Amino acid sequence: MGNIFQKIIDREIPATIVYEDDQALAFKDINPGAPFHVLVIPKQAIANVGAMTAADEQIVGHCLLVCQKVAAEAGLTDYRVVSNNGEGAGQSVFHLHFHVLGGRPLKWPPG
Ligand code: AMP
Repeated sequence: MGNIFQKIIDREIPATIVYEDDQALAFKDINPGAPFHVLVIPKQAIANVGAMTAADEQIVGHCLLVCQKVAAEAGLTDYRVVSNNGEGAGQSVFHLHFHVLGGRPLKWPPG
């Protein structure tokens, strides 16, 4: 049982996985907002940045290094890493994830 990303971790639903190790998983976003749009998640269940504790420092830092790795492997030098925290900020899946977006010009701030 769990949210949709837990089901992807558990291989209960399919995803296009681009990277995996013992702590993290990266897969293509099903509704891409850019030519390159990958989600990087910890395997550990953390709802969002707001739910982190000091004990999660290492795993979240690791996830950011995975963001770097998947972007580099795609040949991207310019990309965005973003994590929506809470419904009002656009979070729809309550398992911490970092969006890695690239492959087109990215304006700031997003809408
Ligand atoms: P957020 O709205 O920040 O919580 O981001 C959730 C993201 O998960 C959205 O960009 C969705 O398109 C994506 N998403 C939802 N379900 C799946 C799925 N089964 N496989 C891949 N990406 C998904």
